[in-house]
Amino acid sequence: MPPHPRSAWRATSVAQRTFPNLDGDRDTDTLIIGAGFTGLSTARDLLAKGAECLVVDGKDVAFGASGRSGGFAVPRYKANYSTLAKTFGNAMAVHLFREVVGATDAIAQTVETFKIDCSYQRNGHVTPAHSPGALEGIEADVAFLKAHAEDDGAHILDRKATAEALGTEVYFGAYVDGRGGCLHPYDYTRGLASGLADRGVPISVGTSVTRLQRDGDRWIAETNKGRIRARCIVIATNGYSLPLRGAGTLHRRIVPVSSSVVATRPLDLNESRKTLPSLLPVTDTRRLVNYFRMLPNGQLVFGGRGDITGRRDDPDAYKMIEGHLATTFPHLAGIDIQERWSGFVAVTLDGFPHAGALDDNLFYAIGYGGRGVALTSLMGSRLAKMALGEPIPSDPMGDQGFTPVPFHAFRRTGMRIMAKYYQFRDRIER
Ligand SMILES: Cc1cc2nc3c(=O)[nH]c(=O)nc-3n(C[C@H](O)[C@H](O)[C@H](O)COP(=O)(O)OP(=O)(O)OC[C@H]3O[C@@H](n4cnc5c(N)ncnc54)[C@H](O)[C@@H]3O)c2cc1C
Repeated sequence: MPPHPRSAWRATSVAQRTFPNLDGDRDTDTLIIGAGFTGLSTARDLLAKGAECLVVDGKDVAFGASGRSGGFAVPRYKANYSTLAKTFGNAMAVHLFREVVGATDAIAQTVETFKIDCSYQRNGHVTPAHSPGALEGIEADVAFLKAHAEDDGAHILDRKATAEALGTEVYFGAYVDGRGGCLHPYDYTRGLASGLADRGVPISVGTSVTRLQRDGDRWIAETNKGRIRARCIVIATNGYSLPLRGAGTLHRRIVPVSSSVVATRPLDLNESRKTLPSLLPVTDTRRLVNYFRMLPNGQLVFGGRGDITGRRDDPDAYKMIEGHLATTFPHLAGIDIQERWSGFVAVTLDGFPHAGALDDNLFYAIGYGGRGVALTSLMGSRLAKMALGEPIPSDPMGDQGFTPVPFHAFRRTGMRIMAKYYQFRDRIER
């Protein structure tokens, strides 16, 4: 039995396939460590280019954040485009916009190519503003994209229209992008793995890489199931990265932070009429975001910041999320919760994911925060290019300046202080 936690995804999964352990020593061109969105997207692109690869996971396909996420394919970054333009210039902000929209396109294409049964819907994604200042920010985004990217794929809902679309009065307006969407994250991940395996990509689970070392112009990865020789190695372990001999300081460049989710019992007709009538997935603008969506069976899935004390299933984290759910939808206060689960996201100091090289033919992509569903597809494509020696764009998602987080050993204390501060800011800004 795989070691996955209970979740609404596990309870509603239609994915059937299981994957074997590594069976003795192996030789491959590219070894991919981690069978989540990033690792499997890398394998997808390597396969498309006719290159050989092998994917391993210490636990199972979709064991990490990929199988536990909200499944929202969000076509924007956490920072506003207008803010990105101030920091990096208009041209770079437009490039970053095109990259993330391209990433959502890639998901649609992947679902289609591999015929993945994952309830994928692309009707749009809503980013409601938690404060008047946040509303100004998303309004500036729409204006920026029109003026500089000649794009009108996003629009603003005023306060009344937002309340009607979401079934809640707590927001000041919303940014809606029709290119966003959502999927069943566990079935998407396992469906992609299954499609890759059908096309000849070996995927080995229960296979934990414990050490990387060079052997001439090859790498040797030691695992609990055997040794793997490879020309190239891709590390795709994100929030589940532990210190790995041979991978230098990678695990110290991010802070793993728990995100927690609850799923209610299916709503009755009266409740569901009042709750998220638009049925669109929602990720709000708070620093400590709240996100929610309806499942086809009528369950409301509601997530937010989880435990940062190191205890993965801290009841206080769920209590806080259930409190946010009740504030957002007062008619659901005290509703039965059927599932509660958490997973680790990887936070970076600049809010961007990064892909780069640790050594010759040793690459990584890491640090998506809570925005990995779409961006992992982009980073997987970049990793495949890097593995094959092809150029990738030079932008803030590269490895320049991506160094270990200072005082990493004290990260939990730091996160606790930051979380309190963010919570305070989110509250007073209203
Ligand atoms: C609760 C939650 C909700 C989220 N919701 C959203 C959302 O709605 N939208 C969005 O865009 N993003 C969301 N995210 C973020 C998103 O899920 C992640 O950014 C994304 O899944 C990262 O994918 P990954 O493949 O890089 O890493 P993961 O899916 O975490 O996979 C890493 C894998 O590496 C394996 N591994 C680790 N070390 C080793 C080793 N030494 N040897 C072998 N294998 C190893 C692990 O077992 C794991 O399976 C959410 C995250 C969480 C936790």
